[in-house]
Amino acid sequence: MSTTTLPPTVAPDLTQETNPMQAMLARYERAVIELDLDPGIDRILRQPEREVTVALPVEMDDGRIEVFTGYRVVHNTLRGPGKGGIRYDSAVTPDEVRALAAWMTWKCAVVDLPFGGAKGGVLCDPFALSPREKERLTRRYTSALMPFLGPDTDVPASDVGTDEQVMAWLLDTYSMHAGHTSPAVVTGKSLLLGGSIGRADATGRGVMLTAEAALMQLGQRLEGATVAVQGFGKVGAAAARLLAQAGARVVAVSDHTRALHSDRGLDITQLANWTRRQRTLDGCPYGDVIAPDELLALDVDVLVPAAVENAITSHNAHTVRARVVCEGANGPTTAEADAVLDAQGVLVVPDILANAGGVTVSYFEWVQNRSGYAWDAATVDTRLAEVMRRAFTQVLQLAHQHEVSMRTAAYMLGIGRVAEVQKLRGLYA
Ligand code: NAD
Repeated sequence: MSTTTLPPTVAPDLTQETNPMQAMLARYERAVIELDLDPGIDRILRQPEREVTVALPVEMDDGRIEVFTGYRVVHNTLRGPGKGGIRYDSAVTPDEVRALAAWMTWKCAVVDLPFGGAKGGVLCDPFALSPREKERLTRRYTSALMPFLGPDTDVPASDVGTDEQVMAWLLDTYSMHAGHTSPAVVTGKSLLLGGSIGRADATGRGVMLTAEAALMQLGQRLEGATVAVQGFGKVGAAAARLLAQAGARVVAVSDHTRALHSDRGLDITQLANWTRRQRTLDGCPYGDVIAPDELLALDVDVLVPAAVENAITSHNAHTVRARVVCEGANGPTTAEADAVLDAQGVLVVPDILANAGGVTVSYFEWVQNRSGYAWDAATVDTRLAEVMRRAFTQVLQLAHQHEVSMRTAAYMLGIGRVAEVQKLRGLYA
């Protein structure tokens, strides 16, 4: 007797799909083929130059000793010092840090900054640490990495779970070891310590500028466009505010506690005042509560994922109805989801372009520190806009020339620039 069996329904393998290193390499390999990259250079560029793992014993407030694990990966320094943030998060993995470091290399090259790429991470729950515990952890992490950090070698910044205060402790610890105050060792500092005016808003401003440029490609103005923003932290809140200021209607925002919606447009200032006091959107009454996934599926002109990796996967990409996805976060879309969004005709402004405003003003901060001179807000904002618009145009041109997505074009631009430098410098034997 023969039986007919249906092919099993294979659920997408999200463990593979959501591994950030896989996500980075899938896009990298696509660009390498398009560029017809020399295999030797490919072998050099696909792996990090240096990976450091450190054990960080910290005395907790109750007298216990905890040992945290910290990472710092320098992916590439061909174009300049390693540059990249430090993440404090309980889900940090070595592969995540590796991918984020490589993304920094391509991102700095896309916007043509004289930096390479690096990233750090400490496996911890930043919300569960007291300020004193966080300070001790940060100082121990910095001292463990002392041989590798420096304005000409590796320059950290803040990222998820870290802020200006963490950068201040890092600066102080490094400076005490170095024997002199060294503001250029870290960016994302407070203005009092040599931070740059405009840095806090820079990533959000870059998102606003690239969203505007993308809409323009579709024949639409930012004024009156509808926007949904996932994540209401340093990037998401600034992007929402600047998009609203530019005339867009921000109809939804979310953080890890709550998603809020209003067809008439949310009052971003009101929401920002709320989170300044309460830290999260939890309990916030200014809008209708919707399910977190609903935000991603809203019928808006622009969707800004500005929270975490893997927000848009093969599971939910088909629900996205936005015309433009402008990636404020690093790695918010998986490689598998790219294909779905492309097929749906969604214009994706990739992370290594869309969120490059932050590292661009970090570069301005480093330049100001090294020249001992502070620029005014108009100078920072004008130069940032120039960098972002130029990079957007270059990526778009490459996309048209090669008939590829903006994602592949951005990788081609970044990888191509690093490869050219490798060729020029040659191999030191
Ligand atoms: P942040 O810690 O300030 O904010 C993160 C926000 O995301 C918070 O509001 C948090 O509640 C929210 N969030 C977390 N999980 C969520 C979920 N499942 N759904 C909805 N919201 C969620 O961090 P940030 O600095 O704003 O960074 C956000 C992203 O942008 C990260 O991917 C980061 O690497 C990237 N990025 C940051 C900068 C920068 O200048 N800070 C620059 C470039 C890229």
